[in-house]
Amino acid sequence: MDLSVVIPVYNEEESLEPLIQEASSVLKPLGRSYELILVDDGSTDGTYPILSRLHKKEPRIKVLRLKRNFGQTAAVAAGISHAQGEVIVAMDGDGQNDPRDIPALLNKLEEGFDLVSGWRYHRQDPFWSRRLPSQIANGVISWMTQVKLHDYGCTLKAIRREVAKDLKLYGEMHRFIPAIAYERGARIAEIKVNHRSRRWGKSKYGIARTFRVVLDLLTVKFLISYATRPLHIFGLIGLMIGGAGFLIGIYLSVQKIFYGLEIGGRPLLLLSVLLILISFQFITMGLLGEMLARTYHESQDKPIYVIKEILDEGKLP
Ligand code: UDP
Ligand code: MG
Repeated sequence: MDLSVVIPVYNEEESLEPLIQEASSVLKPLGRSYELILVDDGSTDGTYPILSRLHKKEPRIKVLRLKRNFGQTAAVAAGISHAQGEVIVAMDGDGQNDPRDIPALLNKLEEGFDLVSGWRYHRQDPFWSRRLPSQIANGVISWMTQVKLHDYGCTLKAIRREVAKDLKLYGEMHRFIPAIAYERGARIAEIKVNHRSRRWGKSKYGIARTFRVVLDLLTVKFLISYATRPLHIFGLIGLMIGGAGFLIGIYLSVQKIFYGLEIGGRPLLLLSVLLILISFQFITMGLLGEMLARTYHESQDKPIYVIKEILDEGKLP
């Protein structure tokens, strides 16, 4: 199988047929073997009956039905784990992404990338509630993860099989797929893609998503930079806070010992004690993190690196 197109859908009954038709008319002429994997994320409308009917007509349309609404990330993860293609393309089920961009994504992939992400250059979404928060998020995510992309929110992307199967997705992390893949050594590219306004149904997200993105970003940043060395971050914070507390303590001691000033009621004393206590907490948290990291890697024989190639026949004369 050359290509798997994974489409998460949650209550998208109207858009499914046109979208699948559009996708098929793009994929058939490519001359590659492909499958369309539609993941029904616990829809409560007519989505599933439509999908099962389409599947009967066309076996290349495969349907996964989740038992309840697990969220877009889980739906994408389910689709990826069932995909058989060498390349996996992820796409929205609401018709906002344009399947006609798929060939361009594949071409870019062939230039030697492992993941090609779409950039909705003329994004058709409301400005204040969607485009502005998204622009800020893209800037912050690019800066923090060091993977500079214009559009983290675009679901349309093409990923090589090995990279896609290697992704561990939790929370709402589908938007961080490029950053997570990069951490595993993938080469990332971005191309401009078409974007259309939603013609049917309504968006499953509101402004509340922003907070979840910020929290997920913390997780991703932590995992990318410190998963194998948590003490480096917790310890650093601990040392800085503890150092500040210690200096304040010294200052107060000098005042007390050499100048005989009363320090018992000084707010600074409280601050100093507080900082020193917190610093111990940070450092012990870092040490616990170090132990967890070892448990995580050693109990599952997970290396802390990813090998690209090995040149070694294994036997020498
Ligand atoms: N989706 C899903 N499960 C959910 C929410 C959304 O599978 O819990 C799907 C949805 O059907 C659509 C895609 O994820 O195909 C993107 O959702 P939406 O269009 O609502 O997001 P937006 O484009 O507004 O960011
Ligand atoms: Mg959409």
